[in-house]
Amino acid sequence: MSVLALEMYRSLPRHTIGKVLSSRVPGNVTAHVAPLRLVTREERPSRRPGWARLRTLLSGICGSDLGALSGHTSLYFSGLVSMPFVPGHEVVAELIDDCEDLPAGTRVVVDPVLTCAARGVQPCDACTAGRTNHCERITVGHLKPGLQTGFCADTGGGWGQRLEAHRSQLHPVPDDLPDEQAVLIEPTACAVHTALRARVPDNARVLVSGAGSVGLLTTVALRALTGAGEITVVAKHKHQRELAVVCGASEVVTPAEVLRRVRRATGAFQVRPEYGSPYLLGGVDVAIDAVGSRSSLETALRATRAGGRVVLSGMPSAADLSAVWFRELEVVGSYASARHEDGAGGRGAFDIAGGLARGDAVRALAAGLARYPLHRWREALDHAAGAGGLGTVKVAFDPRSTR
Ligand SMILES: [Zn+2]
Repeated sequence: MSVLALEMYRSLPRHTIGKVLSSRVPGNVTAHVAPLRLVTREERPSRRPGWARLRTLLSGICGSDLGALSGHTSLYFSGLVSMPFVPGHEVVAELIDDCEDLPAGTRVVVDPVLTCAARGVQPCDACTAGRTNHCERITVGHLKPGLQTGFCADTGGGWGQRLEAHRSQLHPVPDDLPDEQAVLIEPTACAVHTALRARVPDNARVLVSGAGSVGLLTTVALRALTGAGEITVVAKHKHQRELAVVCGASEVVTPAEVLRRVRRATGAFQVRPEYGSPYLLGGVDVAIDAVGSRSSLETALRATRAGGRVVLSGMPSAADLSAVWFRELEVVGSYASARHEDGAGGRGAFDIAGGLARGDAVRALAAGLARYPLHRWREALDHAAGAGGLGTVKVAFDPRSTR
């Protein structure tokens, strides 16, 4: 049987074109330059032990996907993927085959990290400790290199009608949880990890820079899992401001007013350098960059008090690190999520996220999901790239649809 999939193929010149074009035409990142094509693939039974085939129900488009397709991702990651691959690491699907204790037909979400267990190798120290997102064997074993499903030539991904996954990646979804909420479990698990990485002291003042799906879900996780006091969310668009409040924000500000509002609320002093952007002496205790752009990260660095903590949740690009040195900021990364989360009593991020996905906030975010069939991928990617301005939180592919 042949099945449809969107395939990303290596093409450095096109990547270079992508970089040039998308820096000139913001919002139209992907349509004409993305190294993506719709292909038919022959479906074969999975031959690796512990693996099974899945039929995709919905698969989200993530900022990291758009970065890869527009040539914005650092070359650092080029050694951690294998081409051609089918993107899509935010996946709700149903099992085609029995997979150990899970019978065919079970609806599941996929933890995309391709760890030692999935690769059939002896577990590394990180995997043994449950810190699966730190796995050191993501380039070896019986799979081609790939840090996650959706970046590996052997597994397929959610932007195709079929993919394969290992039992260790699968989390069954309760029957009464709609697909639209279930597809947000993976990004919610990442948000859970970010909230725990933030190590927020009780009643601390927190800034979330960015109100796309990452910033909004991180706000939900901060409220659910930490003793954060005031949470200020930086949002550009009206629908983001409304949703941020539903997600637990104490106040929502525009990028232009964030320093002034934090200065007032914390009694900080604002410094205006002779050249360049202003910054605070004093500020929030913890800031989270939920975008990854230079301006978003610099907002987080410039609004955090000395000795405070800044979490990189979006995949970062460049930034002026002066404040990190001068204010002795603790800057920590937050990548994917772990099977046993430090700071959550060893619970898994997907377990926690599955609970949050049932709540009012995630239901409100899921209500605005935009769905596309695979063949309308150019429209889907452009919609995702401009989602904030278009009133959309998340765009997803429905590979069963032909309309
Ligand atoms: Zn490992």
